[in-house]
Amino acid sequence: KLHNTILELKGNIRVFCRVRPFLPDESCNGECKIISFPTSMEAAGRGIDLNQSGQRYSFTFDKVFAPDTSQEDVFVEISQLVQSALDGYKVCIFAYGQTGSGKTYTMMGRPGNTGEKGLIPRSLEQIFQTKQSLQSQGWKYELQVSMLEIYNETIRDLLSPNKSSLDVTRVENGTPGKQYSIKHDAYGNTYVSDLTVVDVQSAKEVAFLLNQAANSRSVGKTQMNEQSSRSHFVFTLRIYGVNESTDQQVQGVLNLIDLAGSERLSKSGSSGDRLKETQAINKSLSSLSDVIFALAKKEDHVPFRNSKLTYLLQPCLGGDSKTLMFVNISPEPSSVGESLCSLRFASRVN
Ligand code: ADP
Ligand code: MG
Repeated sequence: KLHNTILELKGNIRVFCRVRPFLPDESCNGECKIISFPTSMEAAGRGIDLNQSGQRYSFTFDKVFAPDTSQEDVFVEISQLVQSALDGYKVCIFAYGQTGSGKTYTMMGRPGNTGEKGLIPRSLEQIFQTKQSLQSQGWKYELQVSMLEIYNETIRDLLSPNKSSLDVTRVENGTPGKQYSIKHDAYGNTYVSDLTVVDVQSAKEVAFLLNQAANSRSVGKTQMNEQSSRSHFVFTLRIYGVNESTDQQVQGVLNLIDLAGSERLSKSGSSGDRLKETQAINKSLSSLSDVIFALAKKEDHVPFRNSKLTYLLQPCLGGDSKTLMFVNISPEPSSVGESLCSLRFASRVN
């Protein structure tokens, strides 16, 4: 397309694995090293080995980030992909992993620490900078942001000024305040009916909206049993570019998605709402895996309709769109089972 930022991809799907460091309250005395990184030529920077009770499992991805990788170093690896949204591509970047593995850190970063900003704020800063510099070549861009959460297959508008749209309990009781439904138009675009869409002029404005969305989520958190780790967060930036001197037009989309925790249902205490919640998460994560797998294998039938998440993202997952999945891994020995599951999930979609 334009501005020659075509990526060399094998297919349109890539998988990056990121292992977070031990946290201050997690002690490690050397006994507990379950993850290692092979240094052989072929595997360097791409391989990860996991040790589970003496058994070694090896995986290879497009990239593997060891715990000491900074946010900046991670961003360097995705900045071209972000840039391609300005060239008119549809881009999806996902963070997948169990709760506590570093998904939100990767996407958003650590609040209040600019050096540890995640890839959402970094992407926006880059996009606004590039937008500015392309002005001299005649490009004008309009950017629109929306943010939503999918919880139990229900969409919540995180930028709605109307608080009742956040009240999922009412929806569950059968008296919905507002039903957000997903619609595809004839041009292959997706709309969520009634979803708040905001025109944005600067990265600062987006930061403000992200904060607003985070507050909407945390309102839910106390009310709804740590809902934020049980729901998918979808940030969408739509980009409309026009070049008046060359008469060119582009339309790109950047979707940045912090997925619900992938941890499996524990045997105890899994009934009622919790069970329903976990089933909804399992369903949408396995639908996502099925869709990505079908796309990677170039299968004729891609089961987009099996979950809200895949249906919503349908236009941004097929065709000449670009998809990147981060699989986030915790180094903790107690998480080794979940880590193995995540690595297996990711190697299936890779
Ligand atoms: P998740 O969103 O997957 O539940 P978080 O992103 O909240 O996990 O990460 C869990 C904890 O680990 C947080 O305290 C976070 O700040 C920290 N953390 C995650 N990844 C890193 C990293 N790469 N470097 C430093 N701290 C990290
Ligand atoms: Mg999180």
